[in-house]
Amino acid sequence: MSTINSALVDRIVAQFRQRFGSAPEFIARAPGRVNLLGEHVDYNDGFVMPAAIDRATYVAFSRSTEEVSHIEAFDLHETVEFSNDSISYKKQIDGSPLPEWGLYPAGVAKILIDDGFEPEPINVIFASDVPRGSGLSSSASVEVAFLTAWQQLGGWSLQKIRRARLCQKAEIEYVGVNCGIMDQFASVCGEENKILCLDCQSLDWKTLNFPDGVAIVIADTTVRRKLTSGGYNTRHDECEAALRFLQQKIPGVTSFRDVSIADLDCYSSLMLEEIAKRARHVISEIDRTINAQTILERGDIRAFGHLINETHASLRDFFEVSCPELDTMVEIAQSLEGCFGARLTGAGFGGCIVGLFDESEVDYAIEKLSVSYSKKTGLSSDVFVTCSSRGAVIL
Ligand code: ADP
Ligand code: MG
Repeated sequence: MSTINSALVDRIVAQFRQRFGSAPEFIARAPGRVNLLGEHVDYNDGFVMPAAIDRATYVAFSRSTEEVSHIEAFDLHETVEFSNDSISYKKQIDGSPLPEWGLYPAGVAKILIDDGFEPEPINVIFASDVPRGSGLSSSASVEVAFLTAWQQLGGWSLQKIRRARLCQKAEIEYVGVNCGIMDQFASVCGEENKILCLDCQSLDWKTLNFPDGVAIVIADTTVRRKLTSGGYNTRHDECEAALRFLQQKIPGVTSFRDVSIADLDCYSSLMLEEIAKRARHVISEIDRTINAQTILERGDIRAFGHLINETHASLRDFFEVSCPELDTMVEIAQSLEGCFGARLTGAGFGGCIVGLFDESEVDYAIEKLSVSYSKKTGLSSDVFVTCSSRGAVIL
């Protein structure tokens, strides 16, 4: 199955010709991702188990003949123009502030400059079929696609983890979202039919076979949150507070990995209730991802699905990043024939759920998910099958 959205590529190439008067020199493609297990632990030294998906951001680009980059977000019908100078002030060349979406490409350029590279001014039309702000990492796919473009023009060959870290840095330092490395890592390192497994402490990673006969179903609740508006950064701060507290009580703790649930039980009554709950999610989630690696190595999809269900309960009850619509969609999924496991995926507060289903039950599941969700909530949804696919490339 081709994972390239040729219709979307044709549209941005046509727009490029119209706007810049010639065909683009190159097209970069960087996928979104779905995280199967290990949620909110990438910034807590845990393990994450994402897969790159068959939806991606496509960047059609050529060198600019001026000192200015002209970048059009095709999906938003908006354009920005910036230079390597103006982006120091998060501004366009006419002095107006960069719109939020413009911070992602400009941030990548700025971080490259800070790291000693010279990203060339670039002409771009870009578009994406990753739903925005729904937990499938449209933001990382934009960053990684732009990094791939600048790498191509510069003739650099950066190590994969370095590429992911540069994009993560752009999102933290320039966009202002205190994110972990998972999204950018998955977008760079994805492989077909594999689940990635990243140790977020050492940044060592490996791939595990995606089980045969299993389909990944994504159901977008169409409820949207905004990461930059605080919820994500608050959780980040709460986790830091929890770790600081545990470090004061338990000698030798350097990360949540050194703390067991039994340790937490000893001290949780002394902690603010909220902070103890955040720690409970993180510690149990790290345990689940460690177990999941052996479970997947022996291909036990039922046991893996069970862990996915447990993760949802933990995100709902302890990390408190679910919402009624996500819970409803997950309950529907878990009740369906052929569902191995389902949970909210991504940061939460809205967005998508992921479910693993027996391939033979997928058509029925898709139908049931959207019909039952709409009956229970009055909302529409977007339910689709995806598959694990390769990371960023120049097409
Ligand atoms: P997620 O990464 O889960 O999709 P984020 O809130 O991290 O959600 O990132 C979404 C933001 O990324 C959008 O609000 C927009 O600024 C930017 N973005 C993503 N996709 C596009 C796109 N196709 N065109 C322009 N901006 C995009
Ligand atoms: Mg994001």
